[in-house]
Amino acid sequence: MTISLQTPLISSLPLSQLNQCNVWLKMESAQPSGSFKLRSASHACQFYAAKGAKGFVSSSGGNAGIAVAHSGRQLNIPVTVVVPETTSSRARQLIQQEGAQLIVHGRNWSEANDHALSLTSDTNVYVHPFDNPLLWQGISTLIDEVIEAGVIPDAVVLSVGGGSLLSGIALGLEKHQLKNIPIYVAETFGTASLNASMQAKKLVRLEQVSGIATTLAASQVCENAFNVSQQFDVKSLLVSDDETVEACKLFLNDHRVLVEPACGASLSLMYKNRIGFKPEDNVLVIVCGGASVTHEMLMEYQPTR
Ligand SMILES: *Cc1c(COP(=O)(O)O)cnc(C)c1O
Repeated sequence: MTISLQTPLISSLPLSQLNQCNVWLKMESAQPSGSFKLRSASHACQFYAAKGAKGFVSSSGGNAGIAVAHSGRQLNIPVTVVVPETTSSRARQLIQQEGAQLIVHGRNWSEANDHALSLTSDTNVYVHPFDNPLLWQGISTLIDEVIEAGVIPDAVVLSVGGGSLLSGIALGLEKHQLKNIPIYVAETFGTASLNASMQAKKLVRLEQVSGIATTLAASQVCENAFNVSQQFDVKSLLVSDDETVEACKLFLNDHRVLVEPACGASLSLMYKNRIGFKPEDNVLVIVCGGASVTHEMLMEYQPTR
């Protein structure tokens, strides 16, 4: 049974013209749960289901929680998602819509996560939002699909939060002998945990995270993502909240798809022509998606300038 879909790979005329190269969009926004997280969560959930799991527990109020809820529904296995009080009503609604039991507990993610962990057992399995090799294996199929479609990327552009996407893409590139192509990773200034670790040349934890790209707001990336940044040709670029929202709006008009600011961070690198590719380059942009965004949210956003 496959829960995550093979997503479209679209040649973007507007972004190709703007960046003067061949820009390919991998449309993870088209996953039924709204993001690439379905690749990771479904792979982990199916693995645990085969080992006899009778329930799943997540502590993510974002796309990871929604993806676990969706996977559980498809597998007919109950899911509990514990979220902190700060979780938006929109996110709560999406989790419940997938049929998961929603528990609101704690003032922040760490308190919710502690409670989630206390609910786990041998058969009630905790699914981490980003730090587990099973998740990265699931994500690596994205690169398999790109290669199968006949596109050999010369560069990849993606967003980084906790680092599962980077870890999974790196795994996929390695599988296809593409370990040395550049990976451009986008974070917002308020969520730049990979950037901070790369500058320090060791894993560091941010004292605080802020801004509109809440899906990128892991205060520390997983160790594997940091290792990837040291072993692959990873180039870290930062964007402002204003730029990320602007990119979401431009993308909505150009490709008629609504994505979260977390995804807009990557798109902003392309809309601002930040990188400078060669005309023959095939550039793979992971349109990571995001389910918690509404068009009202983008329209109501007040630029800082
Ligand atoms: C989870 C997520 C990210 C960040 O991915 P990490 O694996 O945490 O780095 C970016 N965009 C969207 C839409 C996501 O759901």
